[in-house]
Amino acid sequence: MGKEIHLDDIVGKLRSVRDGAGRDVVSLGMVKDLEVASSSVSFTMQFPTLPGPAEQRVVAAAKRAVEALGFGEVRVRVATAAPSPMSASKRLIPEVKHTVAVASGKGGVGKSTVAANLAVALSRRGARVGLMDTDVYGPSVPMLMGGTKEPHVVEGKIEPPVEFDVKIISMAYFLPKDEAVIWRGPMLHKTIQQFLGEVRWGELDYLVMDMPPGTGDIQLSLSQSIPLTGAVIVSTPQDLALTVAAKAIAMFRKLNVPILGVIENMSTYVCPECGHREEIFGHGGARAAAKEMGFPFLGEIPLDPKIRVQSDAGQPSALDESSPTAKAFYEIADALEAQVRAAGEKVEQEIRIE
Ligand code: ADP
Repeated sequence: MGKEIHLDDIVGKLRSVRDGAGRDVVSLGMVKDLEVASSSVSFTMQFPTLPGPAEQRVVAAAKRAVEALGFGEVRVRVATAAPSPMSASKRLIPEVKHTVAVASGKGGVGKSTVAANLAVALSRRGARVGLMDTDVYGPSVPMLMGGTKEPHVVEGKIEPPVEFDVKIISMAYFLPKDEAVIWRGPMLHKTIQQFLGEVRWGELDYLVMDMPPGTGDIQLSLSQSIPLTGAVIVSTPQDLALTVAAKAIAMFRKLNVPILGVIENMSTYVCPECGHREEIFGHGGARAAAKEMGFPFLGEIPLDPKIRVQSDAGQPSALDESSPTAKAFYEIADALEAQVRAAGEKVEQEIRIE
């Protein structure tokens, strides 16, 4: 570099970078830990919420601005100032290491099926797993998990039934049978908090939560009541499903819940007789959408009629470990574990922008 460049020059240059509301990033106090070596610069950009695509554009603009001064390498770390909801309410279930919400923008995309099979796959991989059914509109976890057992109260605590090595609690156990319950946010909040506090989960590596579909008041209230490590979004490949999946993503991001990844369900149909592949709902849409939005893609599950048959019989497909469908669930469980590890380690996230 010809002329010597001072910190002031870099700060001056960064003042030209604006956030989404047009305010400069230096005055906002977003730039921290600025360090300059001979040909390289590094600094942190701190955002009030988890950085998404809009924030990444600001980071890219800051990087370009500093590069324009002639530095060969500009490294930008991205950090979040807000404490995660996890740390705020971790006290409620201290024995549970990670809580993962399985959510979808709308019903019928296979969210509960995915939650149940992920729980089984994680358990078969050696993790200690619980599955909590918070889908107040249609609790289906007990049926999906073969549920013949009911929870018991032992010494004032709810003892969850165990199916396939997974501890299960469902709203279905506590709802009056054959009676529609109209939930309101605060009532649900109270019930869920009670659930969490009064269930004897024991030590768990993962508590998988089957969320109610959608992004309304109930979902918002639930997501705030539960200390979440992160959320997994299930979508079918169609455009419409992806549009609603994007709404679910936006809801979690607003609450500072990390998106651990997107799963495409009912992807390619493979004929069990002849092996012919048919893309009934299209294919690859969720992967492309995840990439576009900057979130991890965890994998795809084929449209397999056996899933429905096995689900109805209370035998999650992941139990049949040799089948291609089960393999898809195991691959997704592995990808999810990797993301959970990364979310734990990444209090501060480092990204490199091309
Ligand atoms: P949601 O929780 O999103 O409402 P469900 O998990 O209840 O959806 O699934 C809806 C229906 O679709 C169920 O009958 C289920 O067995 C079936 N299903 C889910 N995933 C698949 C799949 N990959 N292939 C075939 N059927 C599926």
